[in-house]
Formats: sequence, structure tokens, C-alpha cells
Amino acid sequence: MNVKKPRGTSDILPAEMPAWRFVEDTCRKQAAIYGFSEIRFPTFESTELFARGVGGTTDIVQKEMYTFTDKDDRSMTLRPEGTACVCRSVVENGLYAASLPLKLYYLSNFFRYEKPQAGRTREFFQFGCECFGPSTPQADAEAILLGSSVIRELGIKGCTLHINSIGCADCRPQYRAALKEYFAAHYDELCDTCRARLETNPLRILDCKSPVCSAIAAGAPKTTDHLCDNCRAHYESLKSILANAGVDFVEDPRCVRGLDYYTGTVFEFVHGGIGAQAALGGGGRYNGLIAELGGPELPAIGFALGLSRLIMAMQTENVPLPGSAENSLYIAPLGAEAAEATASLCERLRARGVVCETDITGRSAKAQLKYADKSGHTFVAVIGSDELAAGTCELKNLRSGEKSSVRIDADELARVVKA
Ligand code: AMP
Repeated sequence: MNVKKPRGTSDILPAEMPAWRFVEDTCRKQAAIYGFSEIRFPTFESTELFARGVGGTTDIVQKEMYTFTDKDDRSMTLRPEGTACVCRSVVENGLYAASLPLKLYYLSNFFRYEKPQAGRTREFFQFGCECFGPSTPQADAEAILLGSSVIRELGIKGCTLHINSIGCADCRPQYRAALKEYFAAHYDELCDTCRARLETNPLRILDCKSPVCSAIAAGAPKTTDHLCDNCRAHYESLKSILANAGVDFVEDPRCVRGLDYYTGTVFEFVHGGIGAQAALGGGGRYNGLIAELGGPELPAIGFALGLSRLIMAMQTENVPLPGSAENSLYIAPLGAEAAEATASLCERLRARGVVCETDITGRSAKAQLKYADKSGHTFVAVIGSDELAAGTCELKNLRSGEKSSVRIDADELARVVKA
């Protein structure tokens, strides 16, 4: 049998893990710095959650969900995104009853049946943050600053922040009507998908990637020209907070995001060097979603960054990964008597927190030393009957080549290796 991984999924191999760990650790660190707490939620949820929470006109719900019927005949879906899941959990667990703002983050895998290409897979990983409670531009700015800080701390430089406001329930209908009128005049030129979007969600035509629709969209009315006073003041205030914080941004009237639940502020982090799938992440305000899912009126803002795209951006820019800070030791025994002694010595070192390996294969000392070097150990010690009799061994630092004589004693070895 020759079973292969499903199309659009990836194995993350040991050689790639340091980059993933660095990205994940940086996300966790920045989330904590900004006062966000971690939340986890199920890998699959009732299909209805996404149909209601993500929106029936979205590509995710219409085309991309991994939906199955379970043995009890219930329709379940592998989570395609995190915001609806977090909102469900906030409502179900009454988390909004605690003091607000409620600031949550997740690092999870998601599933969408998309056409795989560079930067787009069917299983992917996101770092997402959601802030519930305030509807202020300050809350929007904080979310954007947190996302920007992750990108900055990863050492990524070629990323541009795009911002826009798509208005609220008061001003969006009027904008939608203006947009519909504009695109209706170009009906014959639009792609089939956009013709359908004209009725269901004309805003989505603005981010169609087809060259013809794109050219038409370039002349479309701008959402920021149709904002009500409240939305306008909110947007202006956000821009000045960002400018005061020293964050560069471009105003992008075509940044509308693909999901139905956004209201007001929307934004995207776009990278210039990772190909067609250029968004490292994005988000926006979604003031109606908690109520839509049966909770109270609770304003919210959130965003998600795609981990594989962050790594692609780092690779494109040749950002070096920080090296491992921890020293380690390989003990090569010579002969059966020494092998018994080093096995227990190794265990005593591990109990003292030393990263330590010894031989478990029975191979020659030469082969062992080759393995120690390849595995990236910092120190190596060869212990045979002479060393055991003398009670000391020679510790070689594989990085500097330095050698020193050290007592064969767990405390003493641990002290030298950890120094
Ligand atoms: P979205 O939830 O669609 O707003 O996506 C937010 C971010 O998640 C994107 O900017 C990507 O970085 C990442 N992302 C979304 N879908 C995929 C996918 N199919 N493959 C890889 N990354 C993705």
C-alpha cells in the first residue's frame, strides 16, 4: 500500500519546525504583551454555525467547507475559520459576563476545499485575535498594532498595511445601491461569478481577481465616500491613532474582505514578495456577529494571520532564525561496561534538565561521533574503561573545538554543559 497525504495538505518536517516554532512563539508572546488570552475550540462544529456566522454568500460557505454527516445524522463541518468558533464559545460559555474587553487569541489549523497553489492549502494554520466589548477606534488600532507587531518581531519588512471602512447598517445599504448601479452598467463585461455577486453581495466584486472585473472595479464608487458621520469619524480617528503610533498604512477602497460579517473597519497585511496569494492576514470589525449567534449586542474586532505565509515572507526576505540557546551533550560509550554506566549517567543528566543522548544502537564510536555532530549537539564526551577508572572524561565543544577534562559526575557535567 502506498498512501499519500491528501491534496492540499502538508507534512511539516523536523527541518522546518524551528521556523514554525519561532512564528508560533512570537505570536503567543505578542498576544500576551497586548493582554490577549488563549482559547481553543473544537476542530469541527455544527455546519449551521458557519452558514449563519460566516455568511451564505461567501466562497467559504458556498464552495469550500469540508462538511460531513456524522453517525447521528447531524451535519458537521471542519472549521474553515476561527471567528465564528470563538463567538460561539463566547456566547455558549457566557464569557461576555466577565469584565470587558474580552481579548482572546488562538493558534489553530483550519480547512477549506480550495484549489491548492503556492500560499494556499486545504489545511492551513492561523494565529487569530478577537477583542469583544469596545466599539472604539482605539480597539481597532490595538488589533492592527498587535498584528503589525507580530510581523515586525518576525523580522518581515516588505509588508504593507491596507485599511478601509465598509460602513455600518446605516450607510452600507446606500453604498451597496451605488455599487450595484455602477456594476450593473458593466454587467455584460463581468465574469459569471461577479454577475451572480451583483445580486447577492456586490461588494465582493471589488476584490475579484479577474483582470476585466478588476479594471472595472478600479473606477467603482469608494466606500469611504459613502460613510455616515459616525463611520467617517471612527475611520478618521483610527487613521490618526495609527499615524501617531508610527504605523505606515495605505487606504485601499478595494479592501473589503471576503466574509459577510464585517462592519466598519477592515484591513489586510499584504506582502510584496510571496506571489499571488499576497495577504499575510487580515481582519475587521464585526459588531453584529455575537447577537447573530444568540448572544447580546457585543461589538468586536479581530484578525487572523496565516502562519505558512508568514514563513514564506521570512524565507523570501532571508530573515535568519534565532539559533537554539540550549547546549546539549552526546556521551559515546566504548564497550559494554561503559554503555551501562553512560546510560545511567545520561539519565541523571536528563533529570537535571540537560539535553543529553547516548548510544542506543551498539555502533562504533566513530559512527556515534558522526551522529553527534550531525544532530547538532554542542558537547561530546567519549567514555571507556580508562575514563571510568580515572573518574574523568574529556568534554569536547563541537562548535569551538575546545577540550576540557571534567569529572564523571552528573552535577559537574550538568554545570559545565549548561554554562
Ligand atoms: P481569511 O480567514 O480568509 O481572512 O484569511 C486570513 C489569512 O489566513 C490569509 O491572509 C492567509 O494568510 C491565511 N489563509 C487563508 N486561507 C488560506 C489557505 N487556504 N491556505 C493558506 N493560508 C490561508
